[in-house]
Amino acid sequence: MRLDKFVCKSTELTKSEVRQKIHAGALSVNGETITDEATQVHENNSVMLNGVTLRARDFRYILLHKPAGTVCSNIDEAYPSLFNYLDLDRVSELHIAGRLDADTTGLVLITDDGRWSFSITQPASECRKVYRVQLSKALSKERAEEIASQFKKGVQLQGEKALTLPASLEVMSANEVLLTITQGKFHQVKRMFAAVGNRVASLHREQIGAVCLDVEVGQWRYLSEDEVQSFR
Ligand code: URA
Repeated sequence: MRLDKFVCKSTELTKSEVRQKIHAGALSVNGETITDEATQVHENNSVMLNGVTLRARDFRYILLHKPAGTVCSNIDEAYPSLFNYLDLDRVSELHIAGRLDADTTGLVLITDDGRWSFSITQPASECRKVYRVQLSKALSKERAEEIASQFKKGVQLQGEKALTLPASLEVMSANEVLLTITQGKFHQVKRMFAAVGNRVASLHREQIGAVCLDVEVGQWRYLSEDEVQSFR
């Protein structure tokens, strides 16, 4: 593995911070100062940053099908924690990239790689999330078209200054739609439908970026390398 990648994996530093450190002579491999970030390092090499030994960590990237009545928090609150479904060591090191409400079901991404989850949740990434929404009020064809057009232009959520970013609505039936959004504001989907005079009866996340939900409720799997890379 390249030295810069090794240091990234074993610290919280960003890529550019790692390069700066390497160029400043803060890194040594087997006791020799190395200033070329492309230098190859191996598992049995001793890599030090300012005299402190670094150990490569293998990050974990997990997809879980969240059941209703669970919370996206590391501790049980009013409902049991989603993390109870992960039969893994060091669960307390994991966090969720994009939380769901307690009553929302579906795709949740879980990791211990803070930079990776930031690349999904930071507003500038405009990562697409697809929600299957059951609505309290049935939509006529005309009303569905109006709402689709409002969502495309952006709607005003209560307490927000800016309109929502363009979102797309696909009508499945009078009470069921697929909504694709690129933001992740608190209760965003429920607030968007409230803004157009409807109410979300149930909410299920089917997709984040290119990653689709493909495990049964309460089950989980590791993401493939391609899936992990698709967010970088
Ligand atoms: N929008 C919501 O309103 N709730 C969720 O859980 C996710 C998106």
